[in-house]
Amino acid sequence: MKNAFHIMLIPTLGCPSKCSYCWSSEEGSPVMSIETVQEVINWLKDLQKNRITFTFHGGEPLLAGADFYRNALPLISNGLKDQNPEFAMQTNLWRMTPEIAKILAGYHVPIGSSIDGPEDINDSQRGDGYFSKTMAGYRIAKDNGLTVRFICTFTCESVKSREEIVDFFYRNRFVLKLHPALPSLRSENPKQWALDPEEYGDLLVYLLDKAIEHHGDMEIMNINDLCRCVFTRHGSVCTYVDCMGSTFAVGPDGTIYPCYRFVGMPEYAMGNVRDHPTPEDLARSGPGKLLARYKEYVDKECGKCSHIRYCRGGCPYNAIAPTGGEIKGVDPHCIAYKRIFDEINERLDREMFESSPMEMTGFQPGHGKRKKPGVMALMHKSVSDY
Ligand code: SF4
Ligand code: SF4
Repeated sequence: MKNAFHIMLIPTLGCPSKCSYCWSSEEGSPVMSIETVQEVINWLKDLQKNRITFTFHGGEPLLAGADFYRNALPLISNGLKDQNPEFAMQTNLWRMTPEIAKILAGYHVPIGSSIDGPEDINDSQRGDGYFSKTMAGYRIAKDNGLTVRFICTFTCESVKSREEIVDFFYRNRFVLKLHPALPSLRSENPKQWALDPEEYGDLLVYLLDKAIEHHGDMEIMNINDLCRCVFTRHGSVCTYVDCMGSTFAVGPDGTIYPCYRFVGMPEYAMGNVRDHPTPEDLARSGPGKLLARYKEYVDKECGKCSHIRYCRGGCPYNAIAPTGGEIKGVDPHCIAYKRIFDEINERLDREMFESSPMEMTGFQPGHGKRKKPGVMALMHKSVSDY
């Protein structure tokens, strides 16, 4: 299976929010010019013939303003029409206006936003007033026909309130996407908020149970992704595929990085869109070689792991950024990945052993009603919805 080609455009590294575990710059940080957007198009025209997905990321991408999107979206759509571009955006929604929402809706841009649970929990780690500003933007987005999903960052603090957080998402009918807080590379106390890998594994199993309990009326994206990985034996999100070569990020000044997580770290610059680097040029860059070495390392280190085909050593950023670019191990979340992949596989084996073929999909023949669903039902849904 070929990985989709994904470009993360970072219009600015600035952000008006001050989340405790984040690293974005001050508001007022430089914004990508429309000339740079045109250079991105010129670079990609020759580089990629297949479909391209663009995600506007940050920093806070809405700080680029309405004019940026009014110009950039048609420019990319027309300039790369052979590549059928699709768009998405990751934003805290604070600066959403009806004007920007209408522009984004015209290009069917799905929105990913961030809420860490009920207001008190969210604001305790994202700062006072965050929740109400995001919810105000959410209403504007919805009123103008945009779809919005929320990433919920679980920290070592908020994980203690996991029942309350999941209940909040369930009651509000929000799709939940879990993000584990990572050790901050720019903090004096990097592990202050980080979610320990063991706790992350426990949380994933807890969410698996919740996804089964609320099967049909709650969507937990990570659980769908993990079930799909196991079922198809191939990763379906970047963490579980070799992302190198199929994902790049472009910073505000046109610098190319392997992913948004590296943007602003000069040691991970692979080139600039103005120079139209070829895939070979990118592969020859320092970060290109480092990521190729990481891939070889995964082949060796994870070679005996039964999950290697659909895990691929996890996220290279998690593995190499905290060690200053040295490859000393695979993604430290390996413990969590093993735990949840083992759990899904064991439950799947049990369900297959105990059930008739009809029951495996959650359907009980003869009674006209559904049997209690299990991972097989989740797999069925996650594959058919994909
Ligand atoms: S470095 Fe990590 S977050 Fe970035 S694209 Fe690769 S797997 Fe995804
Ligand atoms: S679970 Fe761990 S050992 Fe297995 S492939 Fe993933 S990172 Fe490697």
